[in-house]
Amino acid sequence: MRIEYDIKLGFKDVMIRPKRSTLKSRSQVDLEIEYKFLNSKATWKGVPIMAANMDTVGTFEMALALSSKKVFTAIQKHYTVAQWREFLEKAPKEIVEYVAVSTGTGPKDAEKIKEILDLSKHLKFICIDVANGYSEHFVDFVKQTRQTYPDKVIIAGNVVTGEMVEELLLSGADIIKVGIGPGSVCTTRVKTGVGYPQLSAIIECADAAHGLKGHIISDGGCAIPGDVAKAFGAAADFVMLGGMLAGHDESGGEIVEKDGEKFKQFYGMSSTTAMEKHVGGVAEYRASEGKTVEVPYKGKVLQTIQDILGGIRSTCTYVGAQRLKELTKRTTFIRVAEQENRIYTK
Ligand code: 5GP
Repeated sequence: MRIEYDIKLGFKDVMIRPKRSTLKSRSQVDLEIEYKFLNSKATWKGVPIMAANMDTVGTFEMALALSSKKVFTAIQKHYTVAQWREFLEKAPKEIVEYVAVSTGTGPKDAEKIKEILDLSKHLKFICIDVANGYSEHFVDFVKQTRQTYPDKVIIAGNVVTGEMVEELLLSGADIIKVGIGPGSVCTTRVKTGVGYPQLSAIIECADAAHGLKGHIISDGGCAIPGDVAKAFGAAADFVMLGGMLAGHDESGGEIVEKDGEKFKQFYGMSSTTAMEKHVGGVAEYRASEGKTVEVPYKGKVLQTIQDILGGIRSTCTYVGAQRLKELTKRTTFIRVAEQENRIYTK
């Protein structure tokens, strides 16, 4: 046993210090970034926010809405090949630029990715997602996928430490998904005691990735637009959102009404709800590591996106970053013992 004593931080532990700025208006801030990826050598340009590959977030409807703002959607992995075909028949080429095909690492998964990718040569992102990115089997799957698809952009995760970011990049991944335990409907920290405060995970993993010219996604833990800004400030190349994008028209599922208020169901991908839906229940040897909640119905997702993008633009003006790309260089975090004033918060 060993203890590391240097303190690791989450979003709630810091604020961004304002800096002298020459920007006159938030409208001057450019949120689009262009990336060239390490192994595929592909390029991508857009607003680097991603809808999470969860049942009620990474939907085709979400992709149709978000792509109009050049925001990305990691499509959840449970759509059938036929559903993908139907989506691709309707979607023009530009929408496909903003979606990833998600997959696990099971025996049938490689076959299914191939069938989906065969539907359109424009599909360029594969998101290989497992709860625990530290397993050798996962690394082998990333290597095989890279061999099969030399030109596709491979996203792989989740991990939270620099050495594993390096291993996955050297195994063929382009973008590493970072986050274990911070998610809004995640109970991994409760069930296992495992995790890593998200802000420190981003800082450390970005440092490791950028040293090799790789990229990272900060995945999980953003509850408000300010957290998204902090994730970018900490050097995340992309920020993935689950809970903040749940509860909208585009999230799928039914609206339920209780005492005159409207709600939508949202659940973790390792929750009992998800396992019952997709694999016939929670296997005997495991525990559910996700919650099922009802979130207030929020209407159209583009309103929420505008709120998030407006917040980040404002962050950029507070620190004098004309482009989102410059935000991390202009970020100084201060350690704090307080956040917002909650006197009028319910
Ligand atoms: P959020 O933005 O809601 O805080 O976090 C979204 C992320 O939580 C997802 O992208 C995924 O990495 C993670 N997540 C989703 N479902 C589960 C789950 O059931 N268990 C755990 N441990 N993490 C989950």
